[in-house]
Amino acid sequence: MSETEEKLAGLQAKLNKLAQEELAKGTPRDQIVQKVLEKLEPEERELVEHAASTSGGPQQCLFCSIASGKVPATTVYEDGNFIAFLDINPANSGHIVAIPKGHYQFLSELPDELDAAYMKLIKVLEAAAFQGVEAKGVNVLQNNGAAAGQRVPHIHFHIIPRFENDKISLDWEGKKMEPAQLEEIAKRIREKAAGQMKSAPKQVVVQEEKPTDKKPQKPTKEEQKELPRVRRRLP
Ligand code: 5GP
Ligand code: ZN
Repeated sequence: MSETEEKLAGLQAKLNKLAQEELAKGTPRDQIVQKVLEKLEPEERELVEHAASTSGGPQQCLFCSIASGKVPATTVYEDGNFIAFLDINPANSGHIVAIPKGHYQFLSELPDELDAAYMKLIKVLEAAAFQGVEAKGVNVLQNNGAAAGQRVPHIHFHIIPRFENDKISLDWEGKKMEPAQLEEIAKRIREKAAGQMKSAPKQVVVQEEKPTDKKPQKPTKEEQKELPRVRRRLP
């Protein structure tokens, strides 16, 4: 056993104890990982995050096993590249998990060729969630790394239908930050993003509407009822 493995083994008991304490306190499941990590020493935390990001691989990955059919799941969509299934412990009725069949941990690792199809699938599932369980809202979530609450190290989007007063909490307290601090942070991120976007597809130009000599039609009574709702969605 290497020194790192020994330290990790020692940490395991501590992690289990802290997680049990959080569960007993009634901490929501999606916040337990974050709470436990906050209680670790910086060195311990680094070790856990490193282990989470390098452990596993396709051989031991639960979602790879679901993708290959070795582990059964309640599938709602499948094609050659993706599979979407119901979460075994749903946050709400109709909670979907959508994954690429290939094993990648972080969203940034997804091959570029799959970007458009993955986004299309997420859009379709968002609409299907609205319609399928008559949701009043839908959250689309995606966690990268243990510190962000990722428990299964294989890219996945959560599509979570929402209902009035369903008591699911995705809230956080906003930190106060000075404009200069925001600018400093933005500068660092902006540079990285610009570099990575060099290979992005060319901007899609939205066609301006051609001038027409048709007189604008007065909206019908039914259309008038719809108008305020449509307007509110405009930026
Ligand atoms: P994460 O916390 O990594 O963002 O989300 C992993 C999700 O996978 C969790 O919501 C969890 O309930 C779900 N999950 C874990 N094991 C299984 C399983 O065996 N089958 C299914 N369908 N979902 C699972
Ligand atoms: Zn996997």
